Parts: sequence; C-alpha cells; structure tokens
Amino acid sequence: MKTEFPISRRQFLAAAAAVSAGTMIRTSSAGSMPNVDLGERPHRASDVKVLNPYGRVPVSFFIDDSTCLVNMGHYCQPQFEEAWGQSKGGQPKPWRTWPREIPDSFVREFGTFCREQGVKGKYSLVPYPACVGWLDRELPGWSRTELRASLKLVRDLMTPDWDIHPEMITHTRVIDITTGRPLPQRKDGGYWMENGGWDNGRSLDEIASYIAYALQLIKNLDLPCEGFTTPGGFGNGGKSILSQAAIQAIRGVLGAEIPHYFKYVVSDINESTQPQVEHAKGIASNTPECVVNIPTCTGDYLGVWDGSAPNPTDETIESHVSRDFQSGRLVDVINKGEPVCFLTHWPDMYANGTGIAFATFQGTVRRLNAGFRDRIRWMKSSEIARYWAAKELTTIVTASGETTLKAPFAAPGFTLELPFHTSAPVVQHGDSRTELQKVSSAQQLSDGTWTRAGVEGHVVVCFKLEKGTTTIS
Ligand SMILES: [Zn+2]
Repeated sequence: MKTEFPISRRQFLAAAAAVSAGTMIRTSSAGSMPNVDLGERPHRASDVKVLNPYGRVPVSFFIDDSTCLVNMGHYCQPQFEEAWGQSKGGQPKPWRTWPREIPDSFVREFGTFCREQGVKGKYSLVPYPACVGWLDRELPGWSRTELRASLKLVRDLMTPDWDIHPEMITHTRVIDITTGRPLPQRKDGGYWMENGGWDNGRSLDEIASYIAYALQLIKNLDLPCEGFTTPGGFGNGGKSILSQAAIQAIRGVLGAEIPHYFKYVVSDINESTQPQVEHAKGIASNTPECVVNIPTCTGDYLGVWDGSAPNPTDETIESHVSRDFQSGRLVDVINKGEPVCFLTHWPDMYANGTGIAFATFQGTVRRLNAGFRDRIRWMKSSEIARYWAAKELTTIVTASGETTLKAPFAAPGFTLELPFHTSAPVVQHGDSRTELQKVSSAQQLSDGTWTRAGVEGHVVVCFKLEKGTTTIS
C-alpha cells in the first residue's frame, strides 16, 4: 500500500493492520496489471493514432463495498477478524461502535453532489452484503419498504451516471451456490472467504459459475450491469482464468456486448493506467468478444477502507490535485494522457458519519474540475470499456489519402489523428455520409467535427464510430 502524504501514527497503524490482515486492500506493485492472453489484435496503420475519446482524458471514480443500507465496515470487520484476525497480526477494531447503517440520506447527498459536478464512475452493490440479507429478497434489520426505497434511490439517482457492479456475493464468506449457504468451516478451523484464496486451483467453470450467481442477483434487481468488481484478492489464484470467466459469466447472464471488470490498482507513475483488452476473439466476425480490465490509478485515497481512519482533507487533496494544478497523483496521470480512475470504499467515504472523507472527495472533484475541465471527460466504467475495446480492436488501413476502419464495436467520440492535409474530412458508413465540421481547437471536439493537430499537416477527427466498415476521405 502506498502513502503519498504524511499520515499520523494512528493512521499508519490502522493501515498496516489492514494490510497484514490481508482483507480489503488491493495490492499494487511493480507490474500491477496481470500478464494474461490479450487474444487477437488487428492490423493498424502506423501513421494513424487513436486518441482519447473526444481528445480528452477519461476520468472515473470507483466505489467499492457499497450496497443498500448495510455498513460493510461494521458487518465485515468481525467476520474478517474471525477468519484472519490474530493469526495474520490483524488488530481488533472497535466495529461495535461503528454505525450499522450508511443511510440513504448520505447516498442522496453524495449522488446529488456528483450530479452537479458531472462525476461518473462505478458503484458496487454487494448483493448479499456480509451475509446480512439479500438485496433481491429481504434485509433483516430493515423493512421491505426501506429496502425497496433504497434500491429505487440507486436506480433513479445513481444508474444514469454510475455502472453497477456486484462485488461477488457477500464480500465475506464464500457461498455454496447450490444451497445459498456459506461453506462450512474448513478442516484447519478457518473459513472460506471471497477475498481469501478460495479461487486457488478452481476451474474456469467453477469461477464463472460463482461470478454468474453474483451477476444474477443484480439482474434480479433489474439494474443495468455490464461488469463486476473483485473483492480484494478474489481471482489471485488464476488471473487469466478470472478474465475468461468474466466473459463467460457477463455475456452468459447479462448478454453484455463488452464485459468489463475492476481488480487492479496501478500506482506507479512508470506504469500505464490504460485498460487492458483481454481474450479478444472473432474481431473480424459478426460475433466479436473480449473483456476489458480497467485499473484504478490509486488505492483507496480517502483512508482506511472501513471508515475508521479517514486521511486528512487538505493534505490528501493536495497530494492528488495540487492547488497550482501542477502536481499530485491525478494531475500526473492526466499529464500522461492516460485514464484517471480513482478509488474509495463506501464505508470510508461515509467515515462513520464524520463527513471528513466526503469533504476530501468534494474538494478533490472541485479542484479537478476547476483546473482541468477542458482536458478531461467524466465517464462510466462501461463507457471506458467500450472506447478501449474499439480503440484496441478496430482495423485501420490507410491508402491514397483514405482511411478505412473495420470496427467490431461501435464507440461514440472516436477520435483519430490522421497524417493528411485535408480541409473537409468526410466520414462514410454504409449509406450515411457525414462532412465533418471544423472546430478551432481540440477542446471543442464533439461527434462530427475535426480540427488541426499539433503536428503540422495532421488533422484530428472525432465522430461516432459505428460497428462495421467506415471510410474517412
Ligand atoms: Zn471490496
């Protein structure tokens, strides 16, 4: 775990305990992205560059360990202590004193702020949170009316701007998916935990079936879903299998055209934060497939996942977007022109009702928008997945001043730099012919426009890429 700012001894101890207990923390180290089979790649003319969508750096905020009403800090912590507690040096925490609920009023406050600021991202919905109850049935401790109202709030307020992901089934105990009950205690006295190595040595079908069960629970809620988040180390036992299982489960249960998942944190400035398009197949056919692995560029930047030790507001904002907009982790990644997905956990955002982490988040977003409004574009995780699938898998051929694209997937805001002197690019797809409109700078790009590139004689074109063949002349 990386810390990029001075932290108090208390926070240091809390963070160290969380790491040693091996619970919720996503590890990041050199070579964070997994070495898995990427599958097919198309021919790409070397003199054409696929740029960022609309020529802007994608920015997205990922929230882990959210669900309806249940405070995962309060309910997961005793289960983690029971499973791992003293044996791995984890410190007992005063979880009994933490609120059992993260109220819908906080979801509303958070969601409303994000709507006003244009924030988009990924919001987990753990479907059987810490074995407390089933979001698609009932949640003991809350009335059915309260559960229904909470789900309606997620549907109405969150889903327009946030992708919904299950984070496996419980985020604590592994469930026997034939009975719906937690697996019995292991012979060594331990428990099978979703983020604790159960997947080691499992087959593709076993992993895919487990993920499919989680996805089906979200489908039962009638919420849009095209991907999942792994609880911490789920899938560490077989990273390529996890990726293949993602395709099998997400396409099988949800029918999503471009499945995606979140598991990895890339926090080293020398490593790329670009999503990885994996196991691509049939890209020249009518039934292409792939899965997009989207990393974040920070671990939980607001503090310890359970909300017990939020990071100090001013220092944390400064270490991510400095007051003069010149430095900070998010600024550094923007300056590299690579996607900025940053991360927290919902109990951490709530911080047991203190408001500390939420203030840090609000400050970060306001500063990001103030300094970089013209250079970034807030996107949902599924929008980033779609763009990267198109970016990586579209065939690009240039010949005598004409560029031909063969796209397995459509993508709005598809943006290319072409090595042509042209004054009126025309995009042709089937019978549809569009003369692109000139704009004076890259900041003004939208679908159906073009501008001069920084490189003399090059142009940048931006249009809605359709599946199939498109020519630009
Ligand atoms: Zn999690």
